[in-house]
Order: sequence, then C-alpha cells, then structure tokens
Amino acid sequence: MKAQLPELGYEYDALEPYIDAKTMEIHHTKHHQAYINKFNEAVEKHAELDEKTPEELVANLDAVPEDIRGAVRNHGGGYLNHALFWTILKRDVPFDGDIKTAIEGAFGSLEAFKEAFSNAAATVFGSGWAWLVLDNNELKITQTHNQDSPTSQGQIPLLGIDVWEHAYYLKFQNKRPDYVEAFFHVINWEKVNELYLAAKQ
Ligand code: MN
Repeated sequence: MKAQLPELGYEYDALEPYIDAKTMEIHHTKHHQAYINKFNEAVEKHAELDEKTPEELVANLDAVPEDIRGAVRNHGGGYLNHALFWTILKRDVPFDGDIKTAIEGAFGSLEAFKEAFSNAAATVFGSGWAWLVLDNNELKITQTHNQDSPTSQGQIPLLGIDVWEHAYYLKFQNKRPDYVEAFFHVINWEKVNELYLAAKQ
C-alpha cells in the first residue's frame, strides 16, 4: 500500500508564534514528502507487500525483506512519525480528559511530566524524537533515534516531539530547549486523549 502525504487539516500559520509557518510548510511539503517517496520506492520493489500497510510493515520490521528493511525503518518510520505529529499539534487546547488523570497518576503532575518529557527531548543526541507512549498499558516517556517508530518496539505513541533540527532550526537555531518549551503551547490534548482512549486496555 502506498503512503500518501496527509493533509494537515489546518493552515501552516496555525501554530504561530510557537511553531512558525515557514518551518511547518517545509517540514510538511519537503521533509515528510521525501520520507513518503523513499518509502514507496522501497516497497515497490516487493509486489508481495502490496497488501501491507505502512503501519504493519514498521510494526514488524523483522518480517520485512532484508534489502528494504533499512528503508522501511527510516522512511516508513519517518512517514508514520510525521503523520502522527501533525495531528497532535493545535494551539490552546486545555489539558483535560482521561489522559490528564493518567498523566497525573503516572508522573505526579503536569509540571512533573513536562519536566521529564522536556528532559527527554533535550537529551536526544543528534536527530530523533521524544515520546509519550503506552507500553503494556503503562504510560512511559521514551526516545527514539533517527526516524525509528515506537511501534517497532510494540509501543503505542500518544504524543511525540520531532527534535530533528529541520523541525525548529529556522526559528530557534541551536536553542532546542526553547522549541520544546514552545511545543507545550501547541499540544492537542484532545487528540492525545483520543489516542489514549483507543490504545488503553
Ligand atoms: Mn521532521
């Protein structure tokens, strides 16, 4: 199954001033599209994979033919990570719902969660992501490198921050912690709550 660039569902400037319009446009139309093109190119080499979704392939990398496993891991992961990322971004969404109760239960408070998540985001060495995942029905903060997806490790991502420089360099240059701080203003908690409700058992 071919991957396709999803619509954002909002304008590129919708997250201003926290994430700038130019970064969003380049990130969506150039970076995300490039992962998609390279993923599709790789998968086209194996007609037997036609019926598989990108989600199935990335979640089960061991079953992917070896000659394209690296491409599926990097570009399939890049496709899925960004597809999720766009949906969990929105300005001024209140922290509420079952996810609020669950985060407060797991981490103590929103402030404590924010500190731990920000620390995870700040300390990804090089390019990668920090995540809030559900792992065996337990909330955890994790990191992945490059475009590795939490789903490859059996985890369900609920919230992720892209800390590749392409996600923030135009506006924040080397100041990744400032970008992480800004990110907390544009978390779509309603969507994160929806993902949590769908994932928890
Ligand atoms: Mn990115």
